[in-house]
Amino acid sequence: MTGGIAGVERFDSPGKGRGLRVTKAFKVGELLFSSPAYSYVLSMKERGSNCECCFTRKEGLARCGKCRKACYCNVKCQKADWAMHKLECSAMTAFGENWCPSEMARLVARILAKKKTQKERSASEKILLIEDIQSHEEDVDNEKREMTELDVAGLHRYFSKHLDLPDHKDLLTVFSQVACNGFTIEDDELSHMGTAIYPDVALINHSCLPSVIVTYNGTSAEIRAVKDMKPGDEVLISYIDLLYPTDDRNNRLRESYYFTCECQECKSKSKDKVKLKVRKQSDPIEQDVINNMVRYARKTIREFRALKTHPPVSC
Ligand SMILES: [Zn+2]
Ligand SMILES: [Zn+2]
Ligand SMILES: [Zn+2]
Repeated sequence: MTGGIAGVERFDSPGKGRGLRVTKAFKVGELLFSSPAYSYVLSMKERGSNCECCFTRKEGLARCGKCRKACYCNVKCQKADWAMHKLECSAMTAFGENWCPSEMARLVARILAKKKTQKERSASEKILLIEDIQSHEEDVDNEKREMTELDVAGLHRYFSKHLDLPDHKDLLTVFSQVACNGFTIEDDELSHMGTAIYPDVALINHSCLPSVIVTYNGTSAEIRAVKDMKPGDEVLISYIDLLYPTDDRNNRLRESYYFTCECQECKSKSKDKVKLKVRKQSDPIEQDVINNMVRYARKTIREFRALKTHPPVSC
């Protein structure tokens, strides 16, 4: 392995396969490391309000002169994004209103384009190469396979003119990798801004009692301690919203990530009662209860939208 990241190292996590652990102490709130995205894509619904390159949200962004759709802070951001935007720029104009690839297909197109130009190990792959991200292809059921086939069809339909696509099997692998390792970039209000892939961050295993959280600075991921850590402690994030009780969490983990969590919280289920508590109307409403309700509602709406907008082959 070349380079690596100071303060963390790859190791074999008992019962989990490969994982990441710290080699020095970290205090709550401290940054373990930050990782630029290998590839990322701004959500279509944010187009026009955010820069496609750095995700900055502001008034008065400049539009791409060719498609008049993608927006940028300035010429510097536009130039930096061109290698990726050119995959979409003329195709969007050619397809007009019929241009509607899924966000997943858009991200995969960018990953494939980057793989062609990025021959050296990138700054996002200090510990894990993009090729070595797990795909769990053997676990994919028929329903998911069909969804992926739709994405592959979308990729051919909207991107094949500007990109030499690998064979079907390799495409399925990349889609499976992104499905279980893609990160949703959220703004401060937890609103979905885009999707990205961070190979080094993909090495971090799940726990419902996480030691770190991922936050975003533009399109970079920042890994921060949420508890004090000592050398040798495993770096653990939660792949899912911890709002849900144990059975629900594990259903979600099995559905999306193909494993059942065996952390202390999943064994003890100590917080389930609070999570499942039926509220009486007379109970005073605490601020964190409201926050949780808002988060829950946002998440449900987002999941609903994701299902609704999942790639139609023709539209
Ligand atoms: Zn910008
Ligand atoms: Zn354009
Ligand atoms: Zn757990």
